[in-house]
Amino acid sequence: MITKTLFDLNSLLRPNIKQLVPYSSARDEFKGKEGIFLDANENSFGSPLSENYNRYPDPLQLGLKEKIGKVKGLPTENIFLGNGSDEAIDILFRAFCIPGKDKVIICPPTYGMYEVSANINDVEVKKVNLLPESFQLNSDKIIEAIDNKTKLIFVCCPNNPTGNGVKWLDIKLILESFKGIVILDEAYINFASYRSLIPELLNYPNLVILQTFSKAWGLAGLRIGMAFASQQIIDVFNKIKPPYNINALSQQKAIAALSNIEQVNVWIKTIVAERELLIKKLGLLSCVIKVYPSEANFVLVKVTDANELYTYLSRQQLVVRNRSKVELCEGCLRITIGTKEENEKLITAIKQYADQ
Ligand SMILES: *Cc1c(COP(=O)(O)O)cnc(C)c1O
Repeated sequence: MITKTLFDLNSLLRPNIKQLVPYSSARDEFKGKEGIFLDANENSFGSPLSENYNRYPDPLQLGLKEKIGKVKGLPTENIFLGNGSDEAIDILFRAFCIPGKDKVIICPPTYGMYEVSANINDVEVKKVNLLPESFQLNSDKIIEAIDNKTKLIFVCCPNNPTGNGVKWLDIKLILESFKGIVILDEAYINFASYRSLIPELLNYPNLVILQTFSKAWGLAGLRIGMAFASQQIIDVFNKIKPPYNINALSQQKAIAALSNIEQVNVWIKTIVAERELLIKKLGLLSCVIKVYPSEANFVLVKVTDANELYTYLSRQQLVVRNRSKVELCEGCLRITIGTKEENEKLITAIKQYADQ
């Protein structure tokens, strides 16, 4: 394997980040200790709530990370938590990409935040489209597109909005041919027929895996995203993040949610079963040209007139995502798997549209 010898985190980091002295609070030196805390200008009397929130939260969220670590099979040192995955994505740019100089590679059609975050940070985006119809990575073109200014490559698996998984062989080839960081976004991994690539973190020091509490865990409102990587990379993330990026309430609620993993696993099974049912039913409708296979909690559907169907459904308060203007998704709607009743309503509405 070439990456282990080629990978050098220090040469990848922006000089200002390498030299950065992170913010530290006096509390850092008293972690977990009892005491009279007169160091952080909090209200020492309490909060006007039944539960107290007068103290700043744990900046490293160790209680929550320990619970996550047990589920994922990872020590806390390999876990970063962000205010949504979106914060982790932004930190990657701020850690590794010099604005106006460095570049990243993304593989459209894919999640929109990679490009938005690149634009906010004034970082050039090179696009290497997925292969048409199969939506697999064009790994030869991706490797060709790498130059000495390329710092990050984003791969989304299962991919949004296409729903498919990309082949491990292609991801592996990229990991082994690239000295920069490969970000593997597994936001939808819980719905996939294959496992997370977390065990590969041991083999690839340039791999960062993103997951989130926003999808299968049903906690989009708490805003907690996870990044898994080598301790070296996680240390960099922790240096850059705002000190209290996950609030106390979100930390508590996520810890409670992790004690109810059985409920989440039941939902995942139900959603996957509903997905397969929806794919079958959609395939029978005359206005549907193609239903793409999905490893996620949504399906991409090519229809005869996406704009017309989208408007028709909107008028019945059925809100789906119109992806028909996205390159390689022409004529497509992206539909999230709803409850059984919601999916039935959707099918009935599309049937009515097709029959009119
Ligand atoms: C929804 C989604 C996320 C989650 O973002 P959060 O900020 O954690 O809510 C990340 N990546 C992809 C591909 C997504 O579709």
